[in-house]
Amino acid sequence: MPAKKPLPAIYFAHDHMDRPEDFARDLNAGVTGKILHLVVDGWLAAPTRDLFEASYYGYEGHLERGLIAVSQALSHADNPDNRLQIVRNVDDLASAETNGKLALILGTEGGKLIKEDIALLDVFFRLGLRHIELNWAMRNQIGSSQANEDEPDQSGLTPFGRTVVQRMNELGMIVDVSHSSPAAIKEVLGLTTKPVLNSHGGSRELANKGSNQWDDQIRDMADNGGVIGVHFCSRLVLGVNDRQSEIPDLMRQIRHVMNVGGLDVVGLGPDFILGDDGRDPNYKRNTNQPQISWTVGLESSAEIANIVPALEKDGFSTTEIEMILGGNLSRLFNDVLPSGSSRSM
Ligand SMILES: [Zn+2]
Repeated sequence: MPAKKPLPAIYFAHDHMDRPEDFARDLNAGVTGKILHLVVDGWLAAPTRDLFEASYYGYEGHLERGLIAVSQALSHADNPDNRLQIVRNVDDLASAETNGKLALILGTEGGKLIKEDIALLDVFFRLGLRHIELNWAMRNQIGSSQANEDEPDQSGLTPFGRTVVQRMNELGMIVDVSHSSPAAIKEVLGLTTKPVLNSHGGSRELANKGSNQWDDQIRDMADNGGVIGVHFCSRLVLGVNDRQSEIPDLMRQIRHVMNVGGLDVVGLGPDFILGDDGRDPNYKRNTNQPQISWTVGLESSAEIANIVPALEKDGFSTTEIEMILGGNLSRLFNDVLPSGSSRSM
């Protein structure tokens, strides 16, 4: 039997799997590292729908949940059995790879956890947060979301939101525009001094969902040196809610984003979230997505190696595969995160 080819570096731009058994699964499957979206602007695990909605439309509890989630991730990393490296600067990426640890970039899906206080952004940076996805699917104190795109008042970032982007640039934090409104994304791209991430999205031309991007938006991301993590969730791959996507559907998404934006803009944003019996029922009820599914053959990180033969079969070259799986995100991390010589705080 021919020796199995080693996998290239694999980074996920968007993932929610935060338990020790999840990290073990990632490592066993060959995942190099990921942005772990620790909390979301709506309380996904809320025990009742009412509490979820209160968090979705309000601003209570996000700071507390954020602090607890960061502390839990740091505790997991303290346990050497978990083989985790919290990424505070670019040197941590290299040392994770050398030591066979999973590189964890701590992040958040939505910025409600910093309230309207830039000092809280600095606090979270000192604790280890290196990424904020400015919005989830609703407006917040930073800016407007995809839900606001048709409103006549096409507001983008708030004045506070502009300050947040500037401070994130200064500190070395990854600005993620996934779920933000087109107006907010345009404003971020005009303001940022660093490449920007869209951690989970895809082509809206192929799948007309608000978190996907039209071709001119994909080109704007490419002009910025940014990366789009292509989503594996069926509804975003296909644009419909009642079918499960298959690997050829995902290949069409990857091919389209590359054709429009060029090779350097494509990454992986699987957004794995299911697989925890304690959490799944609340998540599905709270988000009203009882049938949500991921692409057949890529339903968890355990199956990630399946993407390599699929890309090969679709005609992607070895270099293209390396860039898509991890090379492009690695470049963005190195461009944005604090340099190794800077104070790790
Ligand atoms: Zn997510």
